[in-house]
Amino acid sequence: MEKCNQPDKITDNVVVSMMYTLKVDGEILDSCEENDPLLYLHGHENIIPGLERELAGLSIGATKNVIVKPQDGYGEFKPDAFKEIPRSEFPQDFPLEIGVELEFDEEDEENEENEPYFGTIVAVDEALVRVDLNHPLSGKDLNFDVKIVDLRYPTEDELCHGHVHLDEHYEGEDFGEEDCE
Ligand code: ZN
Repeated sequence: MEKCNQPDKITDNVVVSMMYTLKVDGEILDSCEENDPLLYLHGHENIIPGLERELAGLSIGATKNVIVKPQDGYGEFKPDAFKEIPRSEFPQDFPLEIGVELEFDEEDEENEENEPYFGTIVAVDEALVRVDLNHPLSGKDLNFDVKIVDLRYPTEDELCHGHVHLDEHYEGEDFGEEDCE
């Protein structure tokens, strides 16, 4: 049975429900559990641009393989995107271990827009902690297999906020009514 008032293909401002598998270097990094598709609002940069662009126009049931190059994914690997921080700047009980993720929010040369950014500890010695500011998937081709499982129109709130409201997200967010006009 056909649903009333359902978009017939992916355009801006359509909520897309899809299953996907992400492979990098031939290895599966991420995939949806059955019955647990990813939902996103198309046209609002909720997912990486190289994938979003390739999904436009697909209908329910469509499958597609999409290869996303670094410049449309998580960026090129930058050999100079490392930072060394004196150990003394970390709290005493901080877990200074390789692989630990750090969030930075200070304004500096890496951060002209003053947005929080992330890094991963790659080395620790007596004086310094070396942090890689590259995204772990920078420089990688992302190989997505997607299947579109449902399409719907967004609610007014979703459209205003520019993202999908799952229950747990909606409850927790501090998005004031006054922001929605
Ligand atoms: Zn919201």
